[in-house]
Amino acid sequence: MPKKYHIDIKATPLNRDFVSKFKIARGENCINCGKCTKVCIYEAHKRGAKDPRKIDDPHMALCKNCFRCIQECPRGALVKSLDPDFLALGGSYWKPDMLLSIWKQAEDGKVPVSGAGYRGPFTGPGFDGMWTDMSEIVRPTRDGIHGREYISTAVDLGRKLNHLNFADTGSLASNIHQTVDLPIPIIFDIPACKLSNNIMTSFVISAVAAGTFAIMPANDISADIKQYINNIIPLVSPDKITAHQSLISGARLVAIEYATALLNDFGSVKDSIKKISQAVTIVRIPAMTGIEDAVTKLARSGAEVIHIVADYRGMEAPGLRQRFLKDVVRAVHLRLIEERIRDEITIIVSGGIAMAEHVPKAIICGADLIAVDIPLLVALGALLYEQPEMTITLPDWLEKLPAATVVQRIVNLMGAWHSQLLEVMGAMGIREVRRLRGETGRAIFFDEIDKDTFGKLFQQRETASI
Ligand code: SF4
Ligand code: SF4
Repeated sequence: MPKKYHIDIKATPLNRDFVSKFKIARGENCINCGKCTKVCIYEAHKRGAKDPRKIDDPHMALCKNCFRCIQECPRGALVKSLDPDFLALGGSYWKPDMLLSIWKQAEDGKVPVSGAGYRGPFTGPGFDGMWTDMSEIVRPTRDGIHGREYISTAVDLGRKLNHLNFADTGSLASNIHQTVDLPIPIIFDIPACKLSNNIMTSFVISAVAAGTFAIMPANDISADIKQYINNIIPLVSPDKITAHQSLISGARLVAIEYATALLNDFGSVKDSIKKISQAVTIVRIPAMTGIEDAVTKLARSGAEVIHIVADYRGMEAPGLRQRFLKDVVRAVHLRLIEERIRDEITIIVSGGIAMAEHVPKAIICGADLIAVDIPLLVALGALLYEQPEMTITLPDWLEKLPAATVVQRIVNLMGAWHSQLLEVMGAMGIREVRRLRGETGRAIFFDEIDKDTFGKLFQQRETASI
């Protein structure tokens, strides 16, 4: 049995005000008695460093929302309310709570717990319209995912054979393709943001620490980042393969930007890579109308790995219809099954992967693994706004963070997401993430049960009213 994969999480709080759901305002009737400084065991209230006669504004990054200071202030001077800055964050897809949750996971690497006392809707657009099967969780024999039970989250990237051929002599006649193993079905797709070389290097070192890879445009790979080429996937356009041959020659995986010409000429692109290196090739293709046809064609031309990239909300490019990532992946997965080539190719998906639960959900829809992008920045304090247009604001203190802190926070985020994946798989009784792929029977899709339950009823009414 392979060694159990483990991510070393370590509390790495930044003690900086990221964004808080609530704010506490101190009214003018405060008499600076200091009681709030004593009752708050998290030290969110402190006397002023310069003038200890006064109390500083509360440090909301430390506040745990226990309400004790509010209750115990003798003058009723503290008022807690929803922070308008918090409500202005994100938008219709990236909810402020998601950003806060990513931040907290980066702080301590703990499994995100949500749902207790939940009063929200039970369904919604995107991944919210999918409920995972947690039936095994009630079984008393469940062994504890972090204890004796062995659950593998390992995946391999590359082309696989549908079947093996043997010569008359009994020896293996099939040519076994090269694959790259990963202990976790997540790679990093560093967002195109103006990041310094130090931050980029820290992302790559985090990928090394988590045993995974970081995709980076070849032009952004500086000499000091190149030393980690074993964990980097250089991204190049098909016409720049020769220009980047020194990078590609040392890489285990290389990503090629999609161009329509690839559909008819993937073989020659693969040949030019083969002349330089043994790297497994990924074709990075935008989620778009007709992607099922494009992926099928690429797979039949010998593509090994396809990376389907949706926009930041998980939507495919506008076209006749615009589907969410889960529907795109399901359509591609089912088409490849129909064509009997699904097992020959690896599918990576990205775009709109915002929460730990999105990893198993994307895999259930048919992906082999996911690429995480925006959450890498949010873990370091970036804020995302969807209106009036998608904007990512990097904190001005980002560059002052020590590299070790950046690395540990990304590792923590991966630790939390890995633990969540183990929770979901443990609850389903699935021991291997490869077996979760395309297991749609392990989830309920709201749209489908809605249609099954009420579709006929409304169809009858519509027919009757015609
Ligand atoms: S307990 Fe109330 S009155 Fe006393 S310092 Fe705090 S806010 Fe002011
Ligand atoms: S609500 Fe609780 S944690 Fe927050 S500042 Fe008041 S006493 Fe401290």
